[in-house]
Amino acid sequence: MTSTIVLLSGGLDSSLLLVALAQSRPGVSLDGRENLSAAFVFYGQPNAALEGAAAKRLAKELSVPFTDFATADAFPRPHNLATSTTPQGSVVQARNVLLLSIALAHAPPEGKIKLAIGATRDDAEAFPDCRPRFLKRFEEMATEALDRDVFVEAPWLDCTKGYLLRQARNHPTAIAAARSSISCYRGTRCGVCSACRSRSEAFRFAEIEDQ
Ligand SMILES: [Zn+2]
Repeated sequence: MTSTIVLLSGGLDSSLLLVALAQSRPGVSLDGRENLSAAFVFYGQPNAALEGAAAKRLAKELSVPFTDFATADAFPRPHNLATSTTPQGSVVQARNVLLLSIALAHAPPEGKIKLAIGATRDDAEAFPDCRPRFLKRFEEMATEALDRDVFVEAPWLDCTKGYLLRQARNHPTAIAAARSSISCYRGTRCGVCSACRSRSEAFRFAEIEDQ
């Protein structure tokens, strides 16, 4: 049996990923072949309450089991998420190392494990731990660490956020999930932080209104 754990941040990319996995594998959590679940991690992000609520709501809508983890003390504080206006300024050092490790540690004790992460091509430049080489290395490390098969599933690596949204245009559940996702580092749609900027660019590219 394979267990798939989606790192669900409440943001655009991971929300679209959860919809894609939940919809392309109907009944997976019922037939016992593959258990799909979602994990949200509180790491001290300034708008964790809104992000966590969005993540939990989406998982519930999709009938995907959801767990949240509080690990803020694992990261240095303060970080610059609330004040940065550039992707480079929004880097939380080693974030995905820890997030993937938390999902790994909480994975079922038997069977194959897939850790699904919504990293996109847009993330690769500023965030080293969103790059294919890191994710491949993590997969190898995790397989050694558990002495069984661990896969890192990152299907959006070659896609921009705008492309993802455009592909989702004819899928009402995906578009609804995208619109209800939370991207802003400051807690609301401030329109200034780098997450808001890349989100609005993606919606513009896809010619979809962000409601
Ligand atoms: Zn913002």
